[in-house]
Amino acid sequence: MQDKYFNAESSDSHNDPLAAWFLGPKAEHAGIWGEMINYIFQDYVHWRRNYFLEDPIILNRIKRREHDRWFDKLTSEVDSVLNQLKSHFPFFSPRYVAHMLSEQTLPSVLGYFAGMLYNPNNVTNEAAPITVPLEIEVGKMVSKMLGYNPQTAWAHITSGGTVANIEALWVARTAQFNTLMVQEFCKKENIDFQVVLANGAVVPVIEAGFVELLHLPSDDAVFMVRKLASHLSKNEDGDYYLKKLNRFFKESRFNVNNTGILKIHDEIKMSPLIYVSEAAHYSVKKAANILGYGENAVVAVPVDSKFRMDTNALREMLFNQKPENYTACVIGIAGTTEEGAVDPVCKIRRVRDELQQQKNRSFWFHIDAAWGGYLRSLFTHPDLETVQSADLNELAGLYADALDVRDNYSIQIKGVDTGILTTISWDDLELYKSFLSFPEADSITVDPHKMGYIPYPCGIVAFKSEVVTELITQKAQYISDERGGIFDVDKPITINAVGPFILEGSKPGAAAAGAWLAHKTIPWKLLGMEKSSEPLC
Ligand SMILES: *Cc1c(COP(=O)(O)O)cnc(C)c1O
Repeated sequence: MQDKYFNAESSDSHNDPLAAWFLGPKAEHAGIWGEMINYIFQDYVHWRRNYFLEDPIILNRIKRREHDRWFDKLTSEVDSVLNQLKSHFPFFSPRYVAHMLSEQTLPSVLGYFAGMLYNPNNVTNEAAPITVPLEIEVGKMVSKMLGYNPQTAWAHITSGGTVANIEALWVARTAQFNTLMVQEFCKKENIDFQVVLANGAVVPVIEAGFVELLHLPSDDAVFMVRKLASHLSKNEDGDYYLKKLNRFFKESRFNVNNTGILKIHDEIKMSPLIYVSEAAHYSVKKAANILGYGENAVVAVPVDSKFRMDTNALREMLFNQKPENYTACVIGIAGTTEEGAVDPVCKIRRVRDELQQQKNRSFWFHIDAAWGGYLRSLFTHPDLETVQSADLNELAGLYADALDVRDNYSIQIKGVDTGILTTISWDDLELYKSFLSFPEADSITVDPHKMGYIPYPCGIVAFKSEVVTELITQKAQYISDERGGIFDVDKPITINAVGPFILEGSKPGAAAAGAWLAHKTIPWKLLGMEKSSEPLC
């Protein structure tokens, strides 16, 4: 271990761009780090000085001298903090392998430092005119890495994977009960509106049962209000009905965000289940707790000898789900916290397909890739964009050409500048399939502050469809005088803010600046794969 990491002769790290990103175990890049931090600070100072150039100096030299005593005290307290911090764990050292803690990259620190000086609050655009757009761009970059279409996905920065998981389940909950609101409205107003059930049958929404509506394919649940609005807007009295719809939603007994879930459970006489492997992170239980499902709603699906979800067990559980239960969500984990195991994502998707066909039930599929999400960048290649039917052998063939996949499925990654090859081995092809199947999920959690090597706090929650933002705000988005009016119903939406759609309030724009600079300067191989028409497995 020692030789491998510390013998300069045997290591090519001085040629490796990867090593340029970090300060180095002996702070070898201290010079450039110090220069860059000072460069940013001086630039910031100039900005301050030149704001109202004609203003007089307030803290003049005489006053400043009066501050000397206080600065002496500050210096000694700074020394105290610095001394204490030296007892901290050396995350930077290759000797330190406990926990998922690591070095931060230079660009992420510089971006964060620059952002921190300006101290923007990304809760609103008024408090962060520069860093909110950066956060939205980071969301698009990460969406692309995850395999979503960045044009139509929605992703933003959270305080971490915990809040990302809570938010994903919160959105799933809203989408699920929206279907009941739509039905109630159509019943009340006698509106002829059709829905496609999980098994493909088309029925008038007023005839569908609670079980069917709560288990619609999540895309259909998410788009249902939009589709109804579009349907209504074609009517002569469209505007009238749309206003009614918006008013109705505010008062509906199925508006989960207004009435709370208790009342809804009383109405539907069913209780929720959340399926996740027994290796789940405890934030899933927190989410179940906070959202009113209760921690007992979390069903621990057994894992196999590699700590991956046993999808046969999942299938059994879902197929034999009792009529008094409904599925709130199924969660796959990409990188379990303790073992780094990756659930067979594409098999979970296959279970969903079978459940839809045979039981007329679907579910919201969330991937918790807080720990492992960034690994997807290793499994992607631009050539894959052209793959329509993602046949496994075809994929393996492409990898073989592009990345030199050997028989034992190791990949060789070429250093961007140096051409140095690094070999990474995987034990089976299931991992490739799992990562390639990411876009099948409705939402994904990924933590830049873990394998993105970005300072805390920086998690991300990504949703396949930006339309979820409409469900969350529950604004009267379809009325003519708001958001461009009913003519916008069929158009994609433009998201220019994060505040209205998130759980958190004040949040650091600095985190967005750090993530943005890191992703700009440390690019990954991007896939941008279209959703393939054929299943991967
Ligand atoms: C770390 C982790 C979380 C929680 O993320 P935080 O950023 O610590 O809130 C959730 N899920 C998994 C799988 C994790 O590894």
